[in-house]
Amino acid sequence: MKIAFIGLGNMGGSMAQNLLKSGQTIFGYDLSEVALQHFAEAGGVVCTSPQAAAKEADVVITMLPAAKHVREVYLGEHGILAVLKAGSLCIDSSTIDPQTIKEIAAVGQTKQVRICDAPVSGGTLGAKDGTLTFMVGADAQTFNAIKPVLSLMGKNFVHCGDIGTGQIAKICNNLILAISMTAVAEGMALGVKLGIDPQALAGVINSSTGRCWSSEIYNPWPDICDNAPASRGYKDGFAAHLMLKDLGLAVDAATQAEHPIVLGSMVQKLYQQLCQEGDATLDFSSIIHQYAPHQCLLA
Ligand code: NAD
Repeated sequence: MKIAFIGLGNMGGSMAQNLLKSGQTIFGYDLSEVALQHFAEAGGVVCTSPQAAAKEADVVITMLPAAKHVREVYLGEHGILAVLKAGSLCIDSSTIDPQTIKEIAAVGQTKQVRICDAPVSGGTLGAKDGTLTFMVGADAQTFNAIKPVLSLMGKNFVHCGDIGTGQIAKICNNLILAISMTAVAEGMALGVKLGIDPQALAGVINSSTGRCWSSEIYNPWPDICDNAPASRGYKDGFAAHLMLKDLGLAVDAATQAEHPIVLGSMVQKLYQQLCQEGDATLDFSSIIHQYAPHQCLLA
């Protein structure tokens, strides 16, 4: 089986490494020389374009920043749909709007190429450990066909429904995540300001009703969670500008559905401010800089 992987960044780089560890030959492409270098060091075959990677592939996985990159890689002037063979399968794991992947899948259908959405949850730690959750939008046959490949990169596979439903699940999950991360940042910063030690406060929250993934596994206050980006200068995580993109997807979808989301819109404004102030490429837990800029300085 020939597998191509396009988009070898914070997430895709680790996902491709897990495929390589299982003994697969992976043909990879990324715009970044650094990403390609890491991929080559892990044993991947570096290609010179998305088309070169995807030609003759049985399975293509894409893990790109946003809808415009996904559109370009599949449908652009040098897009992979022009070279993919009939019967091949594409898995887009990027977080994008449901409509874009539906449009791309419709073009794929005319070329007998099956395309599905399989965005992920679990962050960069889950990508490294191979414990990602995949939220799949596909028909049942395609879902069953991609499961063996997904199982090399993740632990949970949820069949959400037809094409696009994986993205709906992902957008709603990240809306909740952005709100819960901001809530933990607000509570931690207030507690410290009022005079409690941050370790003591986190200990109480994590054994009380405020406990959540953002407080327990990925706490935004430095040195609470050893493996969280907050303990390494907010580097190498889920970039704040990507969270802002996801909040935009949720707010846009809510507007189109005439279904207001109150907290999501407020948190979107906080992330806009954070990104404008220069933290766009830092991990999204750096939202705590909006509350405690001095105590949570970069390492
Ligand atoms: P990233 O920016 O680290 O990686 C994206 C990679 O795509 C980059 O290396 C970039 O060079 C490459 N790229 C961009 N355009 C390209 C093109 N035309 N051809 C080839 N390569 C191209 O982003 P990431 O953190 O890996 O996130 C990727 C996707 O996964 C995003 O949609 C994000 O929202 C989603 N996601 C990220 C996380 C996380 O914790 N980082 C978690 C879940 C989902």
